[in-house]
Amino acid sequence: MEIPLVDLKPQYSDIREDIRKAIESVLENQQFILGPNVRRLEENIAAYTNVSHAIGVSSGTDALLASLMALEVGPGDGVITSPFTFFSTAGVIARLGATPIFIDIDPATYNMDPQKLREFLETGCDRGREGERPVERKSDILIKAIIPIHLYGQCADMDPIMDSAERAHLDIVEDAAQAIGALYHSRRIVAKGQGAGTTDQRSGGIEQAPIEVIRSGSMGRLGCFSFFPTKNLGGFGDAGMVVTNDDHMAEKIRILRVHGGQQRYHHRIIGGNFRLDELQAAILSVKFPHLEHWTEVRRRNAARYDRLFEEMSLTETVHLPLLTEGNRHIFHQYVIRVSHRDELREFLRAKGIGTEVYYPVPLHLQECFKYLGYRMGDFPESERAASETLAIPIYPGLSPEQQEYVVSMIKAFSERKTSTL
Ligand SMILES: *Cc1c(COP(=O)(O)O)cnc(C)c1O
Repeated sequence: MEIPLVDLKPQYSDIREDIRKAIESVLENQQFILGPNVRRLEENIAAYTNVSHAIGVSSGTDALLASLMALEVGPGDGVITSPFTFFSTAGVIARLGATPIFIDIDPATYNMDPQKLREFLETGCDRGREGERPVERKSDILIKAIIPIHLYGQCADMDPIMDSAERAHLDIVEDAAQAIGALYHSRRIVAKGQGAGTTDQRSGGIEQAPIEVIRSGSMGRLGCFSFFPTKNLGGFGDAGMVVTNDDHMAEKIRILRVHGGQQRYHHRIIGGNFRLDELQAAILSVKFPHLEHWTEVRRRNAARYDRLFEEMSLTETVHLPLLTEGNRHIFHQYVIRVSHRDELREFLRAKGIGTEVYYPVPLHLQECFKYLGYRMGDFPESERAASETLAIPIYPGLSPEQQEYVVSMIKAFSERKTSTL
């Protein structure tokens, strides 16, 4: 049986006619840049994310880049993130002349460990006067922002991260590239008017703090989505979106998107070409109404994998994704953790099963970041995850039979392994 890691064809065949009509209408209008389709997509994403502004941009990477530019991150500044993420999270920091500062992950979720963040801010930094941002002691770098990543589609533990950020006067830019539609059950009193999804106040006479279920992307000062073709909501090329509740930031992103000029050929600030085009927006607008359904199918597939691993008695040898309580994982990826990962990957490849390693080299060990001076052993959990994790097919359109085949082949590998030990 041939099972690729991702197969976009079943999804396309379901909506082929609508997509073709949408493309045809853009072709007839001959308006290709920032038109009605971009506006419509922005309105839909803003409403879905429960924020007041969404600004369509050219990619998830440019969403992150424009966000940091809006925060005026530049040379001499530091931005905290995790080393276990896609390259662009840290790449955008470095491209602005700022310094990526890494905090290791929680091995259970692969997201930034809030405890380690707190320790770093409390013991690795000097705090200026009240109201000032922290300075990393060993480098003398002024820290400006934190980019938590909601890796694989599950939100980082944002409550303690937001607490730390607030105490240190740091802005948060959420890298929600993999997490559109993910929910986080926040017990923190989030700033008034900020992205509450539904408010679930269990009464029964007992006074309880409001528990708010918050959409990914709406918790930081800025949130970034990617519509790369294989993301849960994917275009037919590159596209992205910045979301925010901050009017000032929204205006700035809109200006940065068009080379920093509000009025054409008058440039207030230095921006770039970060525009989202009409064709992508039209395609994404056709796909958007299906997003919730596709997400539910992914979640069902994940639950089926969980069951199959259980039934085939594999839970001792295969670590399944951990679902954090009260939150909604959207399963951009279903990632297992195993020893002998590379051998398993090779075995599955020979059986026709596509897998991928997200990500084999943590960012602190990338050649281009050598100048930061990090070494092997600096972030042991990220390093361990990089050598033990494996993403298996989870896309909507995957059949139960295909899933059974995947798990039975992992079982076959595991049996072969124990018999040779
Ligand atoms: C995909 C991705 C990005 C970048 O998005 P592009 O649209 O490919 O530029 C950034 N961060 C993470 C975590 C991603 O998965």
